[in-house]
Amino acid sequence: MISFRYRKKNVNYMFHRSLARRQMDYYAKTVVDKDLAKEVRIFGLTDVFCRKYQETFRGYYQGLKKLKVEECVWSIGASLLTSAAYCFLYILLARGVYAGIYEVGSFSLYTGAIMTIGGSVGTLISTTAMIYEGTLFIENLISFMEEEPRIVPLGTAPAEVRRHTGHEIVFRDVSFRYPGNRRDVLRHVSLTIRPGQTVVIVGLNGAGKTTLVKLLTRLYDPSEGEILLDGRDIREYDVEQLYSLFGIIFQDFGRYAVTAGENIAFGNIRKSGTEQPELRMLEAAAAQSGADSFIAKLPEQYDTPLMRYFDADGAELSVGQWQKLAIARAFYGDSDILILDEPTASLDPLAEQEIFRQFNALRSDKTSIFISHRLSSTTIADQILVMEEGEIVERGTHAELMALQGRYWQLFTTQAEWYRTENAPGRQEGDGAIPLF
Ligand code: ADP
Repeated sequence: MISFRYRKKNVNYMFHRSLARRQMDYYAKTVVDKDLAKEVRIFGLTDVFCRKYQETFRGYYQGLKKLKVEECVWSIGASLLTSAAYCFLYILLARGVYAGIYEVGSFSLYTGAIMTIGGSVGTLISTTAMIYEGTLFIENLISFMEEEPRIVPLGTAPAEVRRHTGHEIVFRDVSFRYPGNRRDVLRHVSLTIRPGQTVVIVGLNGAGKTTLVKLLTRLYDPSEGEILLDGRDIREYDVEQLYSLFGIIFQDFGRYAVTAGENIAFGNIRKSGTEQPELRMLEAAAAQSGADSFIAKLPEQYDTPLMRYFDADGAELSVGQWQKLAIARAFYGDSDILILDEPTASLDPLAEQEIFRQFNALRSDKTSIFISHRLSSTTIADQILVMEEGEIVERGTHAELMALQGRYWQLFTTQAEWYRTENAPGRQEGDGAIPLF
């Protein structure tokens, strides 16, 4: 009873204190994380995180210790009781021998039997308790695995997406609030993107640009309104098929500790159904993003492992090189809709211009959505959307918005000022572009 009771208490404790365990994991990883090493070193954060770890550990350990001590006290009590029972039985047997009921040899036979049975029953109980504890942990895992996906097609027979064609995208009065948030991040957004158009979305940080893309790619469903793809609500499509339409690079794109080639090929796993990249396609994608020049200099080109997690000879790339690799991932494969969320922020202006040029050449029949800080990208746009606090405040072509002399005009002319050497305070010859937003 004690074993079962305390195994359950142990599992409950670990479950309820999972926040503390996650915190300890996080603090421990932070001080050894390669990407954070620079700041951790320079700002002297090691001690801060060690202290935080110790504080959390202290609280966590105290509760655990209390539980273990309680279990120990009960177990000692139970052991004393068992020992008393053994003593009683031994005395009973000894008295029997003394009275001549049992022979002397029988004494050791019976006491031996009692010891063996007691030991076996004890082992049985402790093993069962351990299995019981395991099932409690597994129950947790099972309930996690039984979570139903919330992003599912609306009807019983999901619609098929059309491939290799231009797509029309319509947002109809879409509002969205992240789960658990009190504030709408998007408010009554309506827009139409015609097949083959290139749309650039500009706006301040936190305006809701990435959220718009997350809704279009159905990572979340709108709280209000609907999003139509080729005239149908995107919720009617098969989710996997819908995802396969998009070639997308998010601002916080993935950097994978695999080879350079695999990093690019990950952009097409779902469509090609294979992890084996085709060199010809890799080269084409890398050439389009400008990643080919640095990949050619890597020791094993496309087969070079990146990062040093698993390989001491792994190549470490610069932020800009990672970005080019991520853009190559978007170009790899045959997406119908290309979405690049601030893909060029870490590139120098020349590399950025080259990507826009390539992008322009490639986009012919593809619908493309660009989120960008730098207004040079807006020159290739059929439509520019200016977002502010979850709303589209202006829309039109570059010429239309300039003529409007509104928010876009204001932003564009301010940014143009910055590009002029004589007007940029403290600006040095050869500085990169200064992002306005
Ligand atoms: P932008 O791309 O324009 O910089 P985002 O769409 O990323 O802006 O974010 C818009 C707002 O939504 C921000 O205020 C941000 O804090 C909030 N937000 C973004 N992602 C999440 C999330 N996963 N959960 C809750 N709030 C979020």
